[in-house]
Amino acid sequence: MCGIVGAVAQRDVADILVEGLRRLEYRGYDSAGIAIVNSEGALTRVRRLGKVQALEEALNTQFVAGGTGIAHTRWATHGEPSEINAHPHVSCETIAVVHNGIIENYRVIRDALIQKGYLFESATDTEVIAHLIHDLLKADISLREAVQLASQQLEGAYGMAIMDKRQPDRIVVARSGSPLVIGYGLGENFVASDQLALLPVTRRFAFLEEGDIAEITRHRVQVFDREGQPVERAISESNASHDSGDKGPYKHFMAKEIYEQPMALQRTMEGRIQSGHVLDDVFGTGSADLLAHVEHIQIVACGTSYNAGMVSRYWFEALADLSCNVEIASEFRYRKSFVPRNSLLVTLSQSGETADTLAALRLAKEMGYMSSLTICNVEGSSLVRESDMAYMMKAGPEIGVASTKAFTVQLTALMMLVVAIGRHRGLSDEKQQQIISGLLALPAKITQTLMLDKEIEQLAEDFSDKQHSLFLGRGSQYPIALEGALKMKEISYIHAEAYAAGELKHGPLALIDAEMPIIVVAPNNELLEKLKSNVEEVRARGGLLYVFADKDANFKSDDTMKVMDLPHVDELLAPIVYTVPTQLLAYHVALIRGTDVDQPRNLAKSVTVE
Ligand code: GLU
Repeated sequence: MCGIVGAVAQRDVADILVEGLRRLEYRGYDSAGIAIVNSEGALTRVRRLGKVQALEEALNTQFVAGGTGIAHTRWATHGEPSEINAHPHVSCETIAVVHNGIIENYRVIRDALIQKGYLFESATDTEVIAHLIHDLLKADISLREAVQLASQQLEGAYGMAIMDKRQPDRIVVARSGSPLVIGYGLGENFVASDQLALLPVTRRFAFLEEGDIAEITRHRVQVFDREGQPVERAISESNASHDSGDKGPYKHFMAKEIYEQPMALQRTMEGRIQSGHVLDDVFGTGSADLLAHVEHIQIVACGTSYNAGMVSRYWFEALADLSCNVEIASEFRYRKSFVPRNSLLVTLSQSGETADTLAALRLAKEMGYMSSLTICNVEGSSLVRESDMAYMMKAGPEIGVASTKAFTVQLTALMMLVVAIGRHRGLSDEKQQQIISGLLALPAKITQTLMLDKEIEQLAEDFSDKQHSLFLGRGSQYPIALEGALKMKEISYIHAEAYAAGELKHGPLALIDAEMPIIVVAPNNELLEKLKSNVEEVRARGGLLYVFADKDANFKSDDTMKVMDLPHVDELLAPIVYTVPTQLLAYHVALIRGTDVDQPRNLAKSVTVE
């Protein structure tokens, strides 16, 4: 689920591998390791608990020479984060393996290997792969054939890279459920779980498909499909910026990404909107015709993307007169659900590799959906390749584990989808124009909202010693409260809950006291008066309120309520703008509490395991 980097070169590869791991750090991880084989066939492994920095320091005192190597950042699923559980895992000082994902049937394989005399040193599922391949290699077969046979026994998800010190000129890699990309160099070749890791050494990439196994040497990359047949995977030139892994003037990627939102929104709309209309086929070739026939939308997503889906449900039903369901992917994939006629499945995922969402898409293909569309930020990702239609978000790489710009861009894209479908379902030209001009005005509104940064920084002081917080919203702002609470939890570790404000008296009001700050997102919409009553209910019980409100909404700051004025925004698009202060609040609270903002504990960027 975290990072894999591998290289076969004439030069020493340790530095390339460590730089690759650095570039994947944003994904969140708990330990890092590297294994290198030199041309004499000596295998050296170095692993460290904690940051890549610690691994680098270890390598400074013990330089490891060699041109073939694999490296890994681990996000523990089986066995605690520790040096002994860190990858690479080695069998009999001969075979080294790095692995992303989960081997579900590892116990059975482990027991069988123990019977054969193999000793296990870690608690991971991964270690079985190393011993299994070592065992298979006792027959007179190649490393590639051994990996092929091992893959037939492994159940679960993996992206893995394997070296055998007896064949120091090669790495074999295999992909099933966890992405891998091959990087082509001159007289040297590479592999990684994300092309970002390899941008300093190459621009030429080929994405492996599900079931692929590849043998990588300095001069050749041979790819085989699930059946062991040689296949070609298209090589493409990446134009991703080499520096996309840099923070620029910002202290954290999260801050950079919050501030990039005006630009990201602009980019996602560029060339897709013209004279008050969403252009045809913005959602994929032939999408304009197809969208005309959609009668129901099923959105499937996880985490922040799920919250984006929740907002759009209010929009689809109100503006496009279209029924819309939103479901968490891990639930959707394990229940039998009803598919209304002419349903479109829409998946939302920043990375396009979210395991549960991908599984939901694959399941939906057997369920009679008329088509599938993904709204995604990563070119060539699994969701993009496997969906009938794809909308590329163009938000630029999102490195901070807690999603920010991807969320507001997803919302923008979803509103464009509402317009693209709505025009076939009675959404008037005038209303379309109104929405589109609102969308085009968003970058400026967000820029204005970002100016509240200093004020929010001060407000964050009040939260630094709190254990809990409550976020309230109504209507399409309810999911914004959900997203605000999610951000607060993710990066500040303060327990945060979100409620539709009308639900307060059905339970959560019991929690209100001076120790529970309450954050309210209150644009000037038709629910404002109702929201104001909810706010009074809280005040009457001694709660401390922090209100992000439209400047015309007439909230006044006093002893029990701090009001932050936001620019006036079209009510329909207000959720996109009101997200921003909640991101800034979570960010500043996390800064004060000294947490690891970009890589919060226990979390990973793209969740490629179930
Ligand atoms: N399941 C493996 C482990 O716990 C791999 C984790 C990962 O994807 O980083 O070691």
